[in-house]
Amino acid sequence: MNVHESEKIAGILRGEGYGEESPLEEADIIVFNTCCIRENAENHAFGNIGALKKLKREKKGLLIAVGGCMTQEAGKAELLRKKFPFVDIVFGTHNLSELGRLIEKKRAQRKAVVSLLNERQETEDGIEPVRTSYPNAWVNITYGCNNFCSYCIVPYVRGRERSRRAEDVLSEVRSLIEDGYKEITLLGQNVNSYNSDGRGGMSFPELLDAVASIEGKFRVRFMTSHPKDFSEELARVIKKHDKICNLLHLPAQSGSNRILQLMNRRYTREKYLSEIGMLRALIPDCPVTTDLIVGFPTETEEEFEETLSLVREANFASAFTFVYSPRTGTRAAEMEGQIPEEVSKERIMRLVEQVNENTRALSATFVGKTTEILCEDYDDKKGLYLGRNEAGRMGYFKCDENPIGEFVTLKVERANGVSLFGELCRGDESER
Ligand code: SAH
Ligand code: SF4
Repeated sequence: MNVHESEKIAGILRGEGYGEESPLEEADIIVFNTCCIRENAENHAFGNIGALKKLKREKKGLLIAVGGCMTQEAGKAELLRKKFPFVDIVFGTHNLSELGRLIEKKRAQRKAVVSLLNERQETEDGIEPVRTSYPNAWVNITYGCNNFCSYCIVPYVRGRERSRRAEDVLSEVRSLIEDGYKEITLLGQNVNSYNSDGRGGMSFPELLDAVASIEGKFRVRFMTSHPKDFSEELARVIKKHDKICNLLHLPAQSGSNRILQLMNRRYTREKYLSEIGMLRALIPDCPVTTDLIVGFPTETEEEFEETLSLVREANFASAFTFVYSPRTGTRAAEMEGQIPEEVSKERIMRLVEQVNENTRALSATFVGKTTEILCEDYDDKKGLYLGRNEAGRMGYFKCDENPIGEFVTLKVERANGVSLFGELCRGDESER
């Protein structure tokens, strides 16, 4: 999501007459798109901004702007201004579309420009992003979040959920397909609650159905699905269209019902597992990926082990694993029973080991078979082209011609973690 937001920032800068990707020392403007979901992302941003002090002193015309969700956190914009007085522009997530105007304002005055809004109803339809990930393209369908999971800062810094109009989403996807994009990922903090404000004009399963009904050879992915809202109707739409990847990202966060309740996730382990069961009854062996947090306040060893057993029971294809990070202003940050760092570190290591075991097992199932890959890049170090199959496994292969942007069929010879290695086969050898 942040990558796509950066593409929009690049689009605004282009509109202001700036070119792209010059070396840092030659840049006329440097824009930080920060993230505050976890503390380490925030520390990273502070470190990177601080590192520009010297360059800014040496290069008087250089503009430095800081945006992204960190600036929306209570007190953070003031802290930024205090720690880094050389920052020229501070803008928030709700006024991304105004960046051009803020740059012009700063050019006309000496004083720094700080512009933050608490809430905004509009979506960002007017911005033409500079897309950097051909043949893949991200398309927002909602902004913000209404869920208030107790650990999460997103609703505070990105505001209430707003849905884009379905017809705007569809026309964006149509023009991306016309431009040759081959994979569309629909984005929202909880895509399943699309149209909760009535502004979309249709439900998420209907929207997904309409996107996948657009003519052309392309794939559709979507993220993120909140398990409290996952439905059989959605699973049926996934099954109905070959274009929709048979892969579901369904963040579980924990395998313990007590912790899920404290997290305010509004589903149980049993409901979660029954959803996966329902999905796999329709689409046998459908890969499911997830997000998991360890060390949530008061999490016991037994409760952590329930997360480990969920990984086995749900048979996750892979998972993003996080150590709980207290975020000021969230309910969990105020809870008693914060878990010591060394306990969380030990837990995450065990969790990663369990997830890796699953990852290896799923990757091994591809060995000796063919799989369709959308080639997206070339790895200079390996000297191989690469791209993902519909299950999200990265396939690596040699090719004499540049196949970036094409669907190719890979005969998988070996697997390593989430990576598959093999040879391309001719069309007549392929079988999906
Ligand atoms: N809207 C998505 C997730 C957005 S944030 C969803 O509900 O699934 C991406 C992931 O970051 C979350 O799924 C969660 O696992 C993790 N995360 C969010 N806040 C966190 C925190 N305070 N500490 C650790 N991990 C966190
Ligand atoms: Fe955060 Fe929960 Fe919203 Fe996801 S659904 S963004 S975890 S509050």
